[in-house]
Amino acid sequence: MGRVLIIGAGGVGSVVVHKCCQVPEVFSEICLASRTLSKCEAIRDQVPCPIEIAQVDADDVEQLVGLIERFRPDVLINVALPYQDLTIMDACLRTGVNYVDTANYEPRDEARFCYAWQWAYQDRFREAGLTALLGSGFDPGVTNVFTAHALKHHFDEIHELDIIDCNAGDHGQPFATNFNPEINIREVTAPARHWENGQWVETAALSTAEMYDFPEGIGPRKIYLMYHEELESLVKNVPGLNKARFWMTFSDNYLKHLEVLQNVGMTRIDPVMYEGREIIPLQFLKAVLPDPGSLGPLTKGRTCIGNLIKGVKDGREKEYYIYNICDHEACYREVKSQAISYTTGVPAMIGAKMLMEGKWTGAGVFNMEEFDPDPFMQDLNRYGLPWTEVILKG
Ligand code: NDP
Repeated sequence: MGRVLIIGAGGVGSVVVHKCCQVPEVFSEICLASRTLSKCEAIRDQVPCPIEIAQVDADDVEQLVGLIERFRPDVLINVALPYQDLTIMDACLRTGVNYVDTANYEPRDEARFCYAWQWAYQDRFREAGLTALLGSGFDPGVTNVFTAHALKHHFDEIHELDIIDCNAGDHGQPFATNFNPEINIREVTAPARHWENGQWVETAALSTAEMYDFPEGIGPRKIYLMYHEELESLVKNVPGLNKARFWMTFSDNYLKHLEVLQNVGMTRIDPVMYEGREIIPLQFLKAVLPDPGSLGPLTKGRTCIGNLIKGVKDGREKEYYIYNICDHEACYREVKSQAISYTTGVPAMIGAKMLMEGKWTGAGVFNMEEFDPDPFMQDLNRYGLPWTEVILKG
């Protein structure tokens, strides 16, 4: 029994609150805080258990400390934006609270994933006797735990890892992103980067593509090489990894719109003058695109996110695939959100549950693959993200 403070009343925050409500034996008191109070009110009115709500600007450490001292949570789940990670970690250190997030810190003026900023908190969390769990979403998050599970139960050594993220859903809109458009477009337009033979190899954004045949009737789809933050921690924590790549599917329609928006400068993140004031084109674009939250009732189809792994077991070469399939409409029926928010919010709840139950313990800053995957994998099956594994060779 304990108290959880959730920061960020967006698509993911809504799912986290719904899922915490489903586990009252662990999360007995829930508080949701965000910049816009009306968004917290809307979620409070939707969920099946009583929750507290609060307004907070998570860029302001003093405001966060005040809120944490009033609510006194055992764990804080940060599902605001990556820009707020460091201020929220500072507030957790000041108040002695364990920390969970789903995306690594990014400075506003530079589209660059990098754990260095958050790993730099290692000594402070260790000395305070607190746990910071980084990247407890699906990717990063479940994909890290899938890798740890494969290493524990199926491989002596992992040599090649391909994380493949397919959204085979359709929302029927000409152009919309499934989660925060600013964060999504910064991610997709950044150069691709993968790990090969002990070094990072950088290529132009969306310049490498292959076909991949997805299971359970989803079928062949074009996948594009990208950079994704879990590669950085997995390369560090999985010994012997020679190659690690991340792939994502995009429809031709999405890419056509993105190319035009890029060509006309709408995805820029540097300020431009407009009618006497500075605006950031990408932030303006976010204001005119559909709110990802509004896509929930419109989205049909499924996601399939998984890891394709090659390595060695008992001296023999082995190839293995582990994946989850999630249905957009089933998610909407359960928690009024589409599958992208669902597949992120469920692991965020489970990560916090691991800390609350003392199944994952330790003082310091941790990535997901550093803990025992077994209790987390069991909870994925229990709370809505069942997984399937296939031995392809060996
Ligand atoms: P949304 O934009 O829907 O929600 C973000 C929420 O955070 C909004 O309610 C916003 O408030 C609030 N917020 C923003 N700035 C502040 C601030 N300074 N103080 C307080 N609240 C603030 O995003 P999503 O729910 O789609 O995504 C949430 C997080 O999940 C992001 O970090 C995203 O990168 C991550 N994510 C991770 C994935 C994974 O698999 N690991 C996949 C998808 C997302 P307001 O409404 O007022 O703007």
